[in-house]
Amino acid sequence: MARRRSSKRRPSPLLVFFVLIGIAHVTSSCSSPGGGPTISGNTDTRLEVSRAESDLGRGNVAQAAAVFDKLAGRAMTLTDHQLAARVLLGRAECRLRQGDPSAAGEDLLRADTRNRQITNAGEKRSIDARIAFLNGEVDLEQRDWNGAHTHYKRAAEVPGALDADRLNHRLALTAKLLNRTAEASSYRARIRNPSRSEFATLDARFTAPPPQPKTSSSAPAAVAAADPSAPPILPRAKWNARAATWDKDPIGKIWRVTVHHSATPFDSTDTAMTAAHISGIQRTHQGDRGWADIGYHFLVDRAGRIWEGRELRWQGAHAGNHELNAGNVGICVLGDYSSRGLSSAQESSLTRLLDWLRKKNGVAAGNVFTHREVREHNDHGSSECPGPKITAFVKRYRSGSKAVAKG
Ligand SMILES: [Zn+2]
Repeated sequence: MARRRSSKRRPSPLLVFFVLIGIAHVTSSCSSPGGGPTISGNTDTRLEVSRAESDLGRGNVAQAAAVFDKLAGRAMTLTDHQLAARVLLGRAECRLRQGDPSAAGEDLLRADTRNRQITNAGEKRSIDARIAFLNGEVDLEQRDWNGAHTHYKRAAEVPGALDADRLNHRLALTAKLLNRTAEASSYRARIRNPSRSEFATLDARFTAPPPQPKTSSSAPAAVAAADPSAPPILPRAKWNARAATWDKDPIGKIWRVTVHHSATPFDSTDTAMTAAHISGIQRTHQGDRGWADIGYHFLVDRAGRIWEGRELRWQGAHAGNHELNAGNVGICVLGDYSSRGLSSAQESSLTRLLDWLRKKNGVAAGNVFTHREVREHNDHGSSECPGPKITAFVKRYRSGSKAVAKG
């Protein structure tokens, strides 16, 4: 059987994702980064980006997508933050037009990370406006009218950065969807060329009765439905998980649990943003790493929500290699915990999740580990994962004293 997902060659499952978003704090990563070439924002790349942006403006989405996809693969090594942000924004817009708002949301997060590092205030504001507008488009696709309207309003705060007709159309549309008729008319009146076909298409799509939603937020999670003692766990469908490929092994007898952090700054407590973020992690694990599925079995966000990752019946790809992953449940706390601690919501849901997993599988409290412990105990090199404060939490959990100090 293939062992690609066992990560023998590159020990940290999140490393590629980490490098992709271009964070400088490499020491906080799950493990040490590999070396790679650095591409400065050279003239050729700049020219390619400008051409692809014009293609996109003219509606040649497939053509633009091919260029942005190629460049986004290199964006991790772009030292020019503005150029990297433009590449990510271009790809996000292509993904949106191709009907994949979750993927677009993930690129927008990355673009935002780059944008925060831009020093030129004017450039930064114009990228901000584009990020806000595209976040509005993502929300619109996901039928979050309020979120969309808020994002469009933020985009409108930067005068001249965007197509004013398009912006007023979106503000009018979302105001109407929110039943704010007077506000909708006032935005509508500001549109100078209201006969654009794009406007009619969107109006028809969103003011028509909505199709049956893919997942209802009130639907019980698959995991929880199967087991009433489980903590609330958001199912894979909630983050639009892709199917796992064939290349995976059964987890075997579960006898240990390993706790990680994602080592990537991510603080959002917004459900849609978090769903997009997890979907991006899966894309990295399946795409760049060639694994069967997202590496972790569970992910815990800053709000303490638990998300289902890889199905528990399959061996994960998180601890370092096939032997380390056998019988080992992987839990990832989303965010960078190299210096901070868990929120109280995270502590209580992580505790509930660990309690439930241990009870269900007969795992002793002493067999709950940090990633670093698993690696070091098995002579598989060191790791900073999951940082000192989560490590302290795991130690307290193991020793049975669940009284918890704040980080
Ligand atoms: Zn780890």
